[in-house]
Amino acid sequence: MQTIRQQNIEHEAQALAAVIANEQAAGVEHFNSTAAVTDPFSTPFFRAVKREGFIAKLAVGGCVVLVGCGRCRKHSAAIYLKDGQAVELCPLCDRQ
Ligand SMILES: [Zn+2]
Repeated sequence: MQTIRQQNIEHEAQALAAVIANEQAAGVEHFNSTAAVTDPFSTPFFRAVKREGFIAKLAVGGCVVLVGCGRCRKHSAAIYLKDGQAVELCPLCDRQ
């Protein structure tokens, strides 16, 4: 049985793959494509937790601030706010 998180990740992965496939079919050059600015592993995760109501902490320029994950030690986690609480979510460690 999939968790809500896993269902959301799968939904977002399929949606992202569809956008990329449509752009490729339409002849969009890679430099201008969604594929150039997304990651098939991390992007669906970031979009999934957004669907769950987590709001990413952004830098002044509007980019998500990535931090070192306390568990896997990779520089891939982000700080999110939800219900007034700040939480660290990592695409590698928080997929359940
Ligand atoms: Zn991690």
